[in-house]
Amino acid sequence: MQQLLDQLFTEDRAHFMHPSTHARDHATGTLPGKIIKGAKGIRIEDHDGKTYIDAFAGLYCVNIGYGRTEVADAIYEQAKKLAYYHTYVGHSTDTIIELSSRIIDWAPKGMKKVYYGMSGSDANETQIKIVWYYNNVLGRLNKKKIISRQRGYHGSGIVTGSLTGLPGFHQNFDLPIDRFMHTVCPHWYRQAPAGMNEAQFVAYCVDELEKLIAREGADTIAAFIAEPVMGTGGIIVPPHGYWAAIQQVLRKHDILLISDEVVCGFGRLGSKMGAQHYGIEPDLITIAKGLTSAYAPLSGVIVGERVWDVIEKGSQGYGAMGHGWTYSGHPVCAAAALANLDILTREDLTHNAAEVGGYLGEQLHAAFDAHPLVGEVRSAGMLAAVEFMADKDERLPFDAGLKVGPKVSAAALQRGVIARAMPHGDILGFAPPLITTRAEVDEIVGIVRDAVDEVAHSVLNKAR
Ligand code: PLP
Repeated sequence: MQQLLDQLFTEDRAHFMHPSTHARDHATGTLPGKIIKGAKGIRIEDHDGKTYIDAFAGLYCVNIGYGRTEVADAIYEQAKKLAYYHTYVGHSTDTIIELSSRIIDWAPKGMKKVYYGMSGSDANETQIKIVWYYNNVLGRLNKKKIISRQRGYHGSGIVTGSLTGLPGFHQNFDLPIDRFMHTVCPHWYRQAPAGMNEAQFVAYCVDELEKLIAREGADTIAAFIAEPVMGTGGIIVPPHGYWAAIQQVLRKHDILLISDEVVCGFGRLGSKMGAQHYGIEPDLITIAKGLTSAYAPLSGVIVGERVWDVIEKGSQGYGAMGHGWTYSGHPVCAAAALANLDILTREDLTHNAAEVGGYLGEQLHAAFDAHPLVGEVRSAGMLAAVEFMADKDERLPFDAGLKVGPKVSAAALQRGVIARAMPHGDILGFAPPLITTRAEVDEIVGIVRDAVDEVAHSVLNKAR
């Protein structure tokens, strides 16, 4: 048994190039990898038979929890009936037709069509092509630049890596490319100039956006893309009034709004989507993760009426749109999505995300608000974060070399809870499956509290 495992690890190190992984540490075995063999509910089991509560739902995607045989059966039945047919030139399947109607029903008002991909990154790639096409059809040949936000995450392709506002996804890849620019991240606690209250900070974000638009020229800016609540950038909940104020600016300058709901869509915030949660009226919406709860890879671009009308008009002049993936609208993935949406609806998991997510936020506040290592606790539905600071009153971060966030994450893992050390700052992120119960929240918070105390002990002792 041990021999087999050793061999697996050796082969993994020899031939598998992992995403977002330190190449040398992995190759030499310094990185303590894990081979996952099974999962049920909110728990996963590793190669040693050790179980962990997955308080990050994989990568915030396994929203209905692991081991739902209903979805597995739907995938199996669809693969037996029709494993694949393409959707080019108007071809369709009954599964994808049904799914498209279900998605439009789920989405906010004014949405018209769904285009499918396999990942959040490729869906956002499609978004930008649609926006450029839209402006070309309208004859606005210079209106092509895209604004996203510092610390935003929209994928890691050439275009989507450019949209992403995290230096780690740019460096050594020659990104961002031209036409892509970033405005202020709406994180009041860390980004607000000293002495600003939240309302003043919203005005500051608006002002910075206005200045960027004025500098570049509104007639050159096509779209603004943003996550309703930022995920990978640190689980950042926007200040009150942010979305209403930003939308006013975009409308004034005729700039399209793309709501990237890859994380927030399908119940995670305790609302159907981030758009409904914050009163966002997007022109385009990106969906992925929670659409299938990761039982199969499927993403989508939901196109609003205003943009769709122009696309349709464009086809009269330009013919068929030269854009498509072999697997657009894959029937097996669509079957997974339908079964996933059945569970989401039947078990009212959006409501559970609001209710138990609210409890998660309360418990994290109770455990950490007064903790000497913790600067901020923030949450929205089933998304939450605890940010560690060297001096919480002065808002001074720890030296990155101390790796406080990764250490807390490792200490929690050791005790059986997976919470993610977010890549920008010392931030521990939570995004549990939407099926999580209050009792499981208690377990997660209790374990994380012990993990934080352990790290605090060593960090504070060193500082003395
Ligand atoms: N958009 C957001 C908001 C995301 O969080 C992610 C991934 O985490 C993506 C896009 C990219 O999705 P994928 O990793 O499926 O390409």
